[in-house]
Amino acid sequence: MSEDETPRLLVVEDEAHLAAGLKMNFELEGYRVDVARTAREAAHALVRPEAYSLILLDVMLPDLDGFELCRRLRLAGNRVPVIMLTARSDPHDRVRGLEAGADDYLGKPFDLTELLARVRSHLRRQQWMRAPSAEPSNVLRFGGALIDFDTYSASMSGEEVKLTRLEFDLVRYFADNAGRVVERGELLENVWKLRNHPNTRTVDNFVARLRKHFEDDPANPRHFVSVRGAGYKFVPTP
Ligand code: CA
Repeated sequence: MSEDETPRLLVVEDEAHLAAGLKMNFELEGYRVDVARTAREAAHALVRPEAYSLILLDVMLPDLDGFELCRRLRLAGNRVPVIMLTARSDPHDRVRGLEAGADDYLGKPFDLTELLARVRSHLRRQQWMRAPSAEPSNVLRFGGALIDFDTYSASMSGEEVKLTRLEFDLVRYFADNAGRVVERGELLENVWKLRNHPNTRTVDNFVARLRKHFEDDPANPRHFVSVRGAGYKFVPTP
């Protein structure tokens, strides 16, 4: 894990003993940890450019209670996960904490293993939310071309391109063998399912059509490249 990926936690806790213990334990887990003793210090920490991945927030602070600090944080648009820590075990406090915008709540004395597990779980969920939704693996992009092998649809610079099933299969074979020279005979055998077929012109005609569809300049192809005396090479450059 690089420095930048290491989650940074902010522990807001006025009891020096407990704060030091939490810091040490989270650092042992590989996190980077800052401690704020008061809501004021926490507010200062939160305007620093380095973003926190999670905040552990004690409810009983000398200057402002944790509920109010959490509420202000949310009002300011900060959506960092917050786990509230408190000595109070009143269920009303739990509700108050959640209504103030906290994500979780742990009563003191808490079990350190449980706290670590909850922190991990919140960080994991946060990563899922941040991860860009995965592009379907059956979509091929190169140049302005977009080819979806699930729906058998294709477009070039946003304009729909109608391909035959055989043309899709040919593009697919090229894509699966991108960067490698494929011979005409190999294409006839694998795409057309023709063994020892003498008429390699078929391949040339199809490649010419793909170039017309997907090359900016079909006369000077960048993607469906001829390799003299050998065959074709598909180059999926952006
Ligand atoms: Ca306290």
